[in-house]
Amino acid sequence: MLPEKADLKHSEQFTKRMLELSRNIASMVDLSSILSKITVIACDLTNSQEASILLYDRTSSDLRFQAVANHKRQKLLKTSVPLEASVADRIFSTAVPLVINDAEDDPRIFREIDQRLDFHTHSIMAVPLTVDQAAIGVLETINKNDGSNYTEDDLTILETIGAQTSLAVSIANLQRKLQESDTNIRNLDRMKSDFIAIASHELRTPLGLILGHATFLKETVGEGLSDQMEVIIRSAMRLKSIIEDLSAIAQKEEGLSRIRNTEFSMSALVEEVANRFKEVSAAKKIHLSYDVPDGDSLTIGGEREKIDVALTNIVQNAVIFTDANGQVGIKAERAGDQVKVFVVDTGIGIPATDVERIFDRFYQVESHLTRKHGGMGLGLSIARGMVELHDGEIWCESREGTGSLFCFALPIKSSRDMTAARLFTAD
Ligand code: ADP
Repeated sequence: MLPEKADLKHSEQFTKRMLELSRNIASMVDLSSILSKITVIACDLTNSQEASILLYDRTSSDLRFQAVANHKRQKLLKTSVPLEASVADRIFSTAVPLVINDAEDDPRIFREIDQRLDFHTHSIMAVPLTVDQAAIGVLETINKNDGSNYTEDDLTILETIGAQTSLAVSIANLQRKLQESDTNIRNLDRMKSDFIAIASHELRTPLGLILGHATFLKETVGEGLSDQMEVIIRSAMRLKSIIEDLSAIAQKEEGLSRIRNTEFSMSALVEEVANRFKEVSAAKKIHLSYDVPDGDSLTIGGEREKIDVALTNIVQNAVIFTDANGQVGIKAERAGDQVKVFVVDTGIGIPATDVERIFDRFYQVESHLTRKHGGMGLGLSIARGMVELHDGEIWCESREGTGSLFCFALPIKSSRDMTAARLFTAD
């Protein structure tokens, strides 16, 4: 039975030191310095000669000293105690605190450390450190300074400090895992980018040859095989457009995208894109309309072809994801020093959980393997890239089953304004 000593004599000091510790843990940068601080606090608050923290090392399957309060014991750092025949081991395997006030002949004390350090353990108090109910180590204090016995109060104090220590270790583990996954994500992203860049570059030349020869052959083989040749050419053209998409992404990622510095009318572009989709919309029985102001009010500085790609990709999706008797509308208007372009459809809409991600590369709402429509999940990512190259913004609002609204806003800049460092005049 431990001697009772009801009042926590240094309760004010205790509260202060615990508060200080909590703050240190909350702003922790380096676990080992926090652990050292904890051993010093444990010594002070339990009036002990020594305190140490041992943590379980999975690789070597033993307990290792991670922090000690006393300089004389620094050489213990990173050394291990056997997972049998030591107090630390007992605490670690039973997860029950232990106080030994008469340690002189106690067989549970691992004497080798005392001998190595020329130290004498009279009394020892140890508590388990646990994370998610699993033991991760031990916090122990050794020898009361005044030679007295450890009390229940001392044990309560050490258990409180132990709980804080476990918290610190747990936070450090989470920080490490977060860092590791961050690095993994970066590496994967890099690999994905490299793959896109290499694939688009390497496929371009052989595909050019296939297309060239197929076109030549179509002319020479005559009527008999022209249907087959037509299929080859159409499929090769489809591959070409995929490679162009990949190439646009790769260039944007590597910062190689350039904007040709011209002025163009957004009204005329909207009209042109709408007309391009007239036939396919009519074939699907979709009502396609557009609404733009006449004249030069929507003239902006930038590269028409790139904004054409962005608008085409958005309108194409609107037509693809809208069923017969639905509507697709395109509208462009001036809003302050911006031009805004809206594409609205009464199609299938996009679930709220997906809206945030549809501009990500390769993101598709339906699984690629089961979806009815073709595509690679690149169209909107390219559209965003093109808009952002023009310092614009793009977003989407959608309701599943009702339809979607895509909008992009571009600053109205004259071609003279476009001399910012990242915009280059081509060739
Ligand atoms: P993809 O070329 O594969 O369609 P996009 O990047 O153009 O790739 O679009 C990504 C996904 O966003 C599409 O697969 C589709 O699930 C969804 N989406 C895009 N536009 C619409 C739209 N107007 N209505 C419904 N879903 C859309």
